[in-house]
Amino acid sequence: MSLANGRHYLAIPGPSVIPDPVLQAMHRPAPNIYTGELVDITHGLVPDLKTIAGTSGHMAMYISNGHGLWEASLTNMVSRGDKVLVCLTGNFGVGWADVATRLGLEVETLDFGKHAPVDPAQLEAALRADTTHTIKAVMTVHVDTATSVRNDIAAMRKAIDAAGHPAVFAVDCIASLGCDRFEMDAWGVDVMIAASQKGLMTPPGMGFVWFSDKAFSEGKAANLRTPYWDWTTRAEPFHLYEYFDGTPPTHHIYGLRQAVDMILDEGLENVWARHATLAGAYWAAIDQWGSDGALRFNITDPAHRSHAVTTLNLGNGDGTRLRDWLTENLGITLGISLGFGAIGSDESHGYFRIGHMGHINAHMVLGIVGAIETSFTALDIPHGIGGSVAASSFLSQIGTQARVAPSENTGGCCG
Ligand SMILES: *Cc1c(COP(=O)(O)O)cnc(C)c1O
Repeated sequence: MSLANGRHYLAIPGPSVIPDPVLQAMHRPAPNIYTGELVDITHGLVPDLKTIAGTSGHMAMYISNGHGLWEASLTNMVSRGDKVLVCLTGNFGVGWADVATRLGLEVETLDFGKHAPVDPAQLEAALRADTTHTIKAVMTVHVDTATSVRNDIAAMRKAIDAAGHPAVFAVDCIASLGCDRFEMDAWGVDVMIAASQKGLMTPPGMGFVWFSDKAFSEGKAANLRTPYWDWTTRAEPFHLYEYFDGTPPTHHIYGLRQAVDMILDEGLENVWARHATLAGAYWAAIDQWGSDGALRFNITDPAHRSHAVTTLNLGNGDGTRLRDWLTENLGITLGISLGFGAIGSDESHGYFRIGHMGHINAHMVLGIVGAIETSFTALDIPHGIGGSVAASSFLSQIGTQARVAPSENTGGCCG
């Protein structure tokens, strides 16, 4: 007998859970795209999305997923044959570097492996070695969704400054925006990308590039520009169709408006604190489970773990066995292994990921913790006991903490 009936829970690192109010906001006939509500809503989204990013700079919107944003950012920043330095901490940095290579850029990489964050000292050394400043952009992923490492973006900016290097600093926040604290201007980021389907709780299909004055002016001469991806008119549109270079993503705009309202009503500080706390509940359970058996965090040090996704290794192909059992029997889907071993190999099947980004709360986390524990027992997977109890007791201690009033809480920057 399967117990998977009822609402399925897709607990993967994107697409994330779509809130019912977002779905309801999208459930409507085709709106007027020339005048009226949709135009006003679109204009209004721009300042609010800048607030969420922590920037008073520029923003361009696209009908695109994350892969499109990799191309959008690069084609506006640099010219064919330019050199870029990509700091790798997992599969998603590799993906961005690959797009750069295929666009005809010279790509230098600093690879920090799959279990550790970027070491700012090594970044500084690489930039000091570039005495003629041939490197035009430093690129990294804030949270690498494959390894679940979180990089220290402010420390990387300090390293770039310490080396006195003029490269633009570009960061992929697709997995982290609206989940992990991110402050674009305060942390000195020049270009940042994020998409609709993760912390922004909206279906896949909209993407955003935020950029500084420096990136805007230096990029004007970039000869990789193509008409569709060019951010210039999108950032300073006159008519609605100029935001998206064509028909706007009408229903996504309604959904995103609702999602952004939910984030700003909760308050960015509270959103970040909720993600940190719920991640902490998972980690408390995982610490217990890992005290016996094979289960291990991919990122050992909690200070370097994302609050949006956790990558785990169960060894011996058991990650896939656990995932399959949860989907078939309990109606829960966890994330697959990405970038560990060859696809289909035992190593690859040992890994799995829990997505805990966006529209999630304590009972959803406790449900998954209980479900994983159930699957360990059902599948005879050795594990330390007491995971559920550890997660519950972790959460029971935070109930008394004060919320930050949304009005006192601008997310660190700008308004
Ligand atoms: C999800 C993700 C991407 C890719 O996004 P798609 O919408 O699947 O193209 C890129 N970078 C990071 C960090 C991501 O989490």
